[in-house]
Amino acid sequence: MSTDTLVDLDEVLTRYEPVIGLETHVELGTESKMFCGCSTTFGAEPNTQTCPVCLGLPGSLPAANAAAIESTIRIGLALGCRIATWSRFARKNYFYPDIPKGFQTSQYDEPLCTAGHLDVEVDGETYRVEIERVHLEEDTGKNLHVGGSTGRIHGADHSLVDYNRAGIPLVEIVTCPIPGTGAKAPEVARAYVTELREILLALGVSEVRMEQGNLRCDVNTSLAPVGSLDWGTRTETKNVNSLRSVERAVRFEMRRQAAVLDAGERVVQETRHFHEDTGSTSAGRSKEEATDYRYFPEPDLVPIAPDEEGVEKLRAGLPELPAARRGRLSQEWGISATEMAWLVNAGAVELVSDTVAAGASPTDARKWWLGELARRANDAGTDLGELAVTPAQVAELIGLVSAGTINDQLARQALDGVLAGEGDPAAVVESRGLAVMGESDELVAAVEAAIEGNPDVAEKVRGGKVQAIGALVGAVMKTTRGKADAATVKRMLEERLIDS
Ligand SMILES: [Zn+2]
Repeated sequence: MSTDTLVDLDEVLTRYEPVIGLETHVELGTESKMFCGCSTTFGAEPNTQTCPVCLGLPGSLPAANAAAIESTIRIGLALGCRIATWSRFARKNYFYPDIPKGFQTSQYDEPLCTAGHLDVEVDGETYRVEIERVHLEEDTGKNLHVGGSTGRIHGADHSLVDYNRAGIPLVEIVTCPIPGTGAKAPEVARAYVTELREILLALGVSEVRMEQGNLRCDVNTSLAPVGSLDWGTRTETKNVNSLRSVERAVRFEMRRQAAVLDAGERVVQETRHFHEDTGSTSAGRSKEEATDYRYFPEPDLVPIAPDEEGVEKLRAGLPELPAARRGRLSQEWGISATEMAWLVNAGAVELVSDTVAAGASPTDARKWWLGELARRANDAGTDLGELAVTPAQVAELIGLVSAGTINDQLARQALDGVLAGEGDPAAVVESRGLAVMGESDELVAAVEAAIEGNPDVAEKVRGGKVQAIGALVGAVMKTTRGKADAATVKRMLEERLIDS
């Protein structure tokens, strides 16, 4: 827990300019590891997916995974990077128990992809994030510190290491420092990771589940006095594991660093830990310089020399990227960029798209997902996509409303049934008896009872105050418990009070 004092964000911005930067690690979804044939399946018994290569045993020799190299190049192409014609792996030397070899096989001065960019949108404004590099490396094993209350090494009485993750291909995507975002720095950081995640999903190179650690972010933040030409000292908040946390980590560091600078002290260049529970960061180790790692080219692996023809083939095979897809869908659905941004923020683009594909109109699909369903998700404290209703079921519900079988109010009751696992909408309408009443004897009786029960209102309508009919419609809807069709009821009342 941090006991640092904090400055209000509004106040931070009157004196300081933030510069952010993001280093994102993505575990690729290849079948086998980066330099050996071990399986990459998540959740296996500890140390059951290892071999002499990924355990770093003497005499074992690595061989690079071609599928991982291809995925890395595709990521680079999607980010508009230059693809190297000559690239090498390098040894990054450091000692830690989760690195069995005593070094991580990574890339240093000869990465596969450089000089790309990704445009992200926040509140209708576009920010260009320059990508410095995309390189390929291997993941580390996983330390488990036992006996302490925090799960960190401090306070633990012993540690265990699981090497199943050691050697899984890991792509690191590094942005250039991003200046000029001002008050929007936390949101830009989040929007960047969100968009990157969408791209990785579209490429199908990773499952990008942040909660499983497929996608991990190191968030760099620094502050410089407004108008200063130099950038401030940055901190690196490690392994931030959710989109929301990316935003919170930047916001917290801005507020904390401002307090440090206000006190006339210097920001320490260090790595920091993010705490999900409090949204704060705390000091980790002081940051190593590249020289501390004694990088040198990996002598056991041949250089990678992607040929132009192969790269162009990969470029031609890229899927439609999320930004282009959103542009196309906006046109097809007849909505503005702002309306599309709402759908993106709600995580509803795919859901609406699938609902439309299942036969609903785009307007109805959007109305349901952003309205009633968003409200249910919010009440349940869950994401839209985790609601127990499929786009096909939503389309069916919309179809029942359009056909006049149920009205909006009954549709909400039918949705209750679907969410409770009672089956598809039509089945719930049937089993719960939700269909709109036709012009039955029961409805005629309800209409006549409403007129008799409200003689003064009926008299007003007869006398020409037509809008007073609403009260009578309401009375009928009440006695029929919402099962009547309001338009039908209104027409039946008019026939009795006006047309006669
Ligand atoms: Zn292995």
